[in-house]
Amino acid sequence: MSVVTRFAPSPTGYLHVGGARTALYSWLFAKSQGGKFVLRIEDTDIERSTEQAKQAILDGMAWLGLDHDEGPYYQTQRFDRYNHYIDKLLADGLAYRCYMSSDELNAIREEQEKKGEKPRYPGTWRDRTDHPEGQPYAIRFKNPKEGVVVFKDHVRGEVSISNTELDDLVIRRTDGAPTYNFCVVVDDWEMGITHVVRGEDHINNTPRQINILKALGAPIPEYAHVSMILGDDGKKLSKRHGAVSVMQYRDDGFLPQAVLNYLVRLGWSHGDQEVFSKEEMISLFSLDNISKSASAFNTDKLIWLNQHYIKSLPVDEVVQHAKWHFVQQGIDLNNGPDLADVIKVQSERVDTLKELAQISRYFYEEFDEFDANAAKKHLRPVAKDNLIAVKEALTNVADWKPQSIQEAINNTAETLGVGMGKIGMPLRVAATGSGNSPSLDVTLALISQGTVVQRIDKAIEFIENRENS
Ligand code: GLU
Repeated sequence: MSVVTRFAPSPTGYLHVGGARTALYSWLFAKSQGGKFVLRIEDTDIERSTEQAKQAILDGMAWLGLDHDEGPYYQTQRFDRYNHYIDKLLADGLAYRCYMSSDELNAIREEQEKKGEKPRYPGTWRDRTDHPEGQPYAIRFKNPKEGVVVFKDHVRGEVSISNTELDDLVIRRTDGAPTYNFCVVVDDWEMGITHVVRGEDHINNTPRQINILKALGAPIPEYAHVSMILGDDGKKLSKRHGAVSVMQYRDDGFLPQAVLNYLVRLGWSHGDQEVFSKEEMISLFSLDNISKSASAFNTDKLIWLNQHYIKSLPVDEVVQHAKWHFVQQGIDLNNGPDLADVIKVQSERVDTLKELAQISRYFYEEFDEFDANAAKKHLRPVAKDNLIAVKEALTNVADWKPQSIQEAINNTAETLGVGMGKIGMPLRVAATGSGNSPSLDVTLALISQGTVVQRIDKAIEFIENRENS
């Protein structure tokens, strides 16, 4: 059997962390089995679905690299398929017209609730043939009255629900619109879905869907209902816990690789292993290792993974994602060193790509002011002569490379008979604007010789102004 899985989001908001994890598990299982992954947008709730949300989901999936082999399908474009099967069930006597008004239904529900019963449709129109002429009606599915629906869930084990618990579901509303559960059934069947991976909030729909699949003569897929994600305080994950939209993670400077690695471990494990390349995830993933219990979000771990990937991924891949942040922060990358070289020297120093751009601005543009604390400490009158001397030495470097730069600095220190710090720190503040930078030789080599000299002049001027004030 060749595996086909799907991700079927409703476009009512952004792609959130829970949805992305479901998508990842579904995608991973398809890839691990050499199968296909289908993307289906469940947009039948016209009131709540928006174009913006559809796009947000597509963007989120693309950013994570969860590519689909088929789709995206849109349920709103498939109404004729759903209606075809509704008509078939009607013709086969497996569905029926229900003329009950919502007022009547509400009254029945109220009565049931008063008696402490579960509200359910009592099957009033199931066998009636006295259809009132010209009255609006819904179509209901004839759920079997007896027996038990049993399915083996890959996460939750065997699940069984008695048919006496299930009432006759509306499959076409009075306004002619097919309902959610019915669309899912038809789609899963027509799209050849063999494994349904979805959130546990859908587990109550599964027995109903299985009954409809059976009535249609469709094969029953396998199921894996994945548990919820909680915030680090044990409460349901929400905006309160920080980013919940996948694209917010991009905006905050996370690499998709880190987010994927983080998501895969949120409810799935392989021994004690924490770091998984995409290839490893694919080869090791199995539905049967998904945890039954809810997983708790842990931002520190995500940051740790992000740092790990910023340092260890091939630099070109980091460049690809880092660029966006530089552009976002208005930094012109044409105006300075190759971004890959900057990343190589800065990668140890940051948790996120956003931070990377923030601390790398001086490679691409002039800064207006020296960091106040660094200047106070290092651009003092005693540093002036050292800066003048090192400027001279650096001006004479013929080959602007780390080694010759380091030699010029060393020679200056030796000639002046001062420790390296007395030259290094003022020079660092002069060239980068702050007291934090990678080692001076590589940093200066990435800033041009002309710019370094000019910035030293600026620092000398700063000291002179300070002396005179
Ligand atoms: N559209 C549903 C949701 O976004 C998922 C349905 C399913 O996976 O069967 O929650």
